[in-house]
Amino acid sequence: LDTNLASLRGHLIRFADTGILNQINGRPVPAQSGDWFDTHSPVDETHIARVARSGPADIDAAARAAADAFPAWRDMDGTARKKILHAIADGIVARAEEIALCECWDTGQALRFMSKAALRGAENFRFFADRAPAARDGQMLPSPTLMNVTTRTPLGPVGIITPWNTPFMLSTWKIAPALAAGCTIVHKPAEFSPVTARILMEIAEDAGLPPGVWNLVNGLGEEAGKALTEHPAIKAIAFVGESKTGSMIMKQGADTLKRVHFELGGKNPVIVFDDADLDRALDAAIFMIYSLNGERCTSSSRLLVQDSIAAQFEEKLAARVRNIKVGHPLDPRTEVGPLIHKVHFDKVTSYFDIARQNGATIAAGGTAPEGAGHYVNPTLFTHATNDMTVAQEEIFGPVLTSIRFKDEAEAIKLANDTQYGLTAYVWTNDITRAMRTTAAIEAGMIWVNSENVRHLPTPFGGVKASGIGRDGGDWSFDFYMETKHVGFAT
Ligand code: NAD
Repeated sequence: LDTNLASLRGHLIRFADTGILNQINGRPVPAQSGDWFDTHSPVDETHIARVARSGPADIDAAARAAADAFPAWRDMDGTARKKILHAIADGIVARAEEIALCECWDTGQALRFMSKAALRGAENFRFFADRAPAARDGQMLPSPTLMNVTTRTPLGPVGIITPWNTPFMLSTWKIAPALAAGCTIVHKPAEFSPVTARILMEIAEDAGLPPGVWNLVNGLGEEAGKALTEHPAIKAIAFVGESKTGSMIMKQGADTLKRVHFELGGKNPVIVFDDADLDRALDAAIFMIYSLNGERCTSSSRLLVQDSIAAQFEEKLAARVRNIKVGHPLDPRTEVGPLIHKVHFDKVTSYFDIARQNGATIAAGGTAPEGAGHYVNPTLFTHATNDMTVAQEEIFGPVLTSIRFKDEAEAIKLANDTQYGLTAYVWTNDITRAMRTTAAIEAGMIWVNSENVRHLPTPFGGVKASGIGRDGGDWSFDFYMETKHVGFAT
């Protein structure tokens, strides 16, 4: 822990002087208004840095820079774009330790998970780098009188708005395909966790990305974020965040007919049937809600467990939950660190009383440790029913709600009885049951006998209030590109 804290201080020192600046057209700049906001560590409220508090004028400058840089970036040969994106991946790998330490300090996420996040970010760049040369490829669809040709062209400058839960990895996940497609970008990172977005952008420019291709504008959602969604030069908004913010963005972008891509909230069920491998199901259920502080869109926050095994399963679960190690995020032994912010801490802990009022049992946790920092104890609610607030609302913390079911039909009904539809997890050794349930569950992504394992060529996204659109593979290009048809008379 001490070694990690010493390295962290070395990395952060420069921000203490300069603050976290915007980057517009290749130049580090403060907000035009001269305003700042502050970012603090959730570990103990230590001041990390002041951050440029941008408004419409800064967004306008960034959008113009992205528009000016677009033709050259669009027309650059795909293999040249591929080379630059691989160089960005190399830069991420070279600075992986710095990224991980800063991310943990800024967000409260535990190092044991974040040490891999930077490398996953590098993989995102490599995956889309390799696809850049073929991004424009279309089809020949000849008819008796026409040689029909389709191609794809990049949309233009796009806005990317990201949340605070795993900010580095998510930024790479949205930005890499946009650049590979030939779009230029304006990135507005979350105000609670701005540090690693700045590092990422610096890596990109060091890797040879031309000025103006990637612009970074810090600020609050209702100020800088709103202005970005309303700017006429910005052709589309790729957004990751809460469902209610998604609907605001859709309204804000209506006048300029913005194309939108939304990765939103979830209340994802993990369904455990009595014929499942219960030890593996237990491990996976724990991993999917108590890793990343439960601040994870794909977390399995609703356990649906079959009556016949429920008591035993919940008992084992509660014992494991009580043993999860809560601690300093830079301590390699820590499994759950502090929640991002006081506001979020208040939200998560408010569900402890709500659970009691709802009539659920608090089988583990339900408290916050004494002392500084936004720590909560990993929590398990049992004897819940699906109509309870704790079963319906996205808590976004290390809090699991367990609900019992009788049979397959009831499991499916409960799984779908939610406004969300991001992921689901099904545990059964009966293949026909797995096929029936996965066909009936309303979710964008379902894993059978597995936790969430990302494979970049597969589609990622949700249904219902969990999102619009898909990322991954060529699906990302469907969003960042237009399909163009030309018919040549023969
Ligand atoms: P949030 O919606 O509060 O904020 C996300 C971003 O939107 C921030 O950068 C914020 O500044 C900006 N924003 C806020 N209001 C805005 C407005 N009016 N116009 C434009 N931008 C605005 O979300 P959060 O609390 O940062 O993140 C947590 C949420 O993100 C959870 O609901 C979680 O499930 C979701 N999430 C989803 C995925 C996914 O892939 N589906 C991944 C990670 C997180």
